[in-house]
Amino acid sequence: MTKHIFVTGGVVSSLGKGLTSASIGMLLERRGLRVKMQKLDPYINVDPGTMNPYQHGEVYVLDDGSETDLDLGHYERFTHSPLTRDSNYTTGQIYQSVIEKERRGEFLGKTVQVIPHITNEIKHVIAKLADQDTDVVITEIGGTVGDIESLPFLEAIRQFAIDAGKENCLYIHLTLVPYLKAAGELKTKPTQHSVGQLREIGIQPDILICRTEREISLDDREKIALFCNVSLEAVIEERDKDFSIYEVPMELVENRLDDLINEKLDLGGTSLELDDWRDLLHGLRNPQSEISIAVVGKYAEHKDAYKSIYESLDHAGMHHRAQIRIGRIQSETLEREGPERLLSGYDGVLVPGGFGERGIEGKVEAIRFARERGIPFFGICLGMQCAAIEFGRHVIKLDGAHSTEFDKDTPHPLICLLDEQKNIVDMGGTMRLGTQLCQLSEESLARTCYDQEQISERHRHRYEFNNVYRQQFAAHGMEVAGTSPDGLLAEIIELKDHPWFLAVQFHPEFKSKPTVAHPLFTGFVEAAVKRHQQRTERPQDVPEPSEDAHT
Ligand code: GLN
Repeated sequence: MTKHIFVTGGVVSSLGKGLTSASIGMLLERRGLRVKMQKLDPYINVDPGTMNPYQHGEVYVLDDGSETDLDLGHYERFTHSPLTRDSNYTTGQIYQSVIEKERRGEFLGKTVQVIPHITNEIKHVIAKLADQDTDVVITEIGGTVGDIESLPFLEAIRQFAIDAGKENCLYIHLTLVPYLKAAGELKTKPTQHSVGQLREIGIQPDILICRTEREISLDDREKIALFCNVSLEAVIEERDKDFSIYEVPMELVENRLDDLINEKLDLGGTSLELDDWRDLLHGLRNPQSEISIAVVGKYAEHKDAYKSIYESLDHAGMHHRAQIRIGRIQSETLEREGPERLLSGYDGVLVPGGFGERGIEGKVEAIRFARERGIPFFGICLGMQCAAIEFGRHVIKLDGAHSTEFDKDTPHPLICLLDEQKNIVDMGGTMRLGTQLCQLSEESLARTCYDQEQISERHRHRYEFNNVYRQQFAAHGMEVAGTSPDGLLAEIIELKDHPWFLAVQFHPEFKSKPTVAHPLFTGFVEAAVKRHQQRTERPQDVPEPSEDAHT
């Protein structure tokens, strides 16, 4: 029988509910249990695919092509939970499905209402994940308790325990215990209020995880336990981690969260296996080198816009025992101030994916700088398209070369639309999405990195490299090193005469894990470490990045 854990959040948003849920999933897995993870988001957008990164951060793409919330990235990095379309639902999707049923007449003329029709639909998408191969389903409810939008979800998970049996369900509430400087103490009242609100809805949390910047005293824990109606052992402290998010599971273990869940749900989990994770953290705390990588993107100042890329760089850093200092550089700033000032001294340059014209020329300039100075360069999706534009313009001398995404009438459309994309009007879910196979050329850098002939990677784009230019590119030293199995779509381009210059049409960052860093990221970081070594041996040739180049 599958058991269910529901994770809610209170007091404020951005408490790290996704990370905490992922950590719980990881700990249960490491006690031999089979876990499935799911996120329910209360906003009305059907998926985050059409949302601005400023609003929502990165869009995380799954193998099946669904465009999901970035918390699913944490789930995939921390656990082995299979993730599909069923792992992320929004209010928009729930309503869409109920309205479609209503149009088909499935409700037999009844008045369609939030309770029971919307709540039934929510219960249905939760129950869908339970099967004989799953011990625990962890469902994270987005938003904060008290939001109007969350109410149908909270009502649905309240009812869920009545249907499935209270003994099979566990409610975990993540809350904030803030430190008030003026009073010189931690305050438990916001937590009391937030739990009070949950109890009004009919949910009595079983476990409280308290985010805090200071240690919570026994007195305060007793107070929280008493006022929130939970046992003392179920008040778990989760202290702020400024060093690494990968420490979160360790702290939860120290506070016996995994034991508690195991007992409360009678899961029969084995003893905890965490040796590799401890090694990983040890490596992270004891790096053998420190390198700096510039990530040049339109939303570089937004910490969540390229989340998986930053994580993948860290994974590759752990792999090579290198601490990575990431310089987040806005491409528009680079347009104004020039690459010399902003990029000098970096050991590697990465240009991530993106949409829209703003900042494109800055990316092109950054790539030119990396190419001409022999700085390791890694281009991802739009980053690859910009690398093609840069090479076309400055090496092959194709004046005005561009992508038709930004200049419909360019004389040299190096990047253009696929035929099947030309007549699409709906923006949501209509790109080339999800896992595609890619064939790697022999003796390519990509092949060396992957050590495989065929790979599969996730995509999210409309535009493609224009094959008309393939030969010209190759003749000038930029080769197509990976294609779709039919040879038609260029998926990887790489520069022959350069220490490390590789760009991909797909998104490798969605498949990197802390325990298994992605081969292209490890290849790129290795090249950056080499460059760093050369730099320390011959400092006069390669200056350090200036402090104000980092944001
Ligand atoms: N805008 C480009 C395209 O649609 C690149 C997309 C991306 O970087 N994800 O093809």
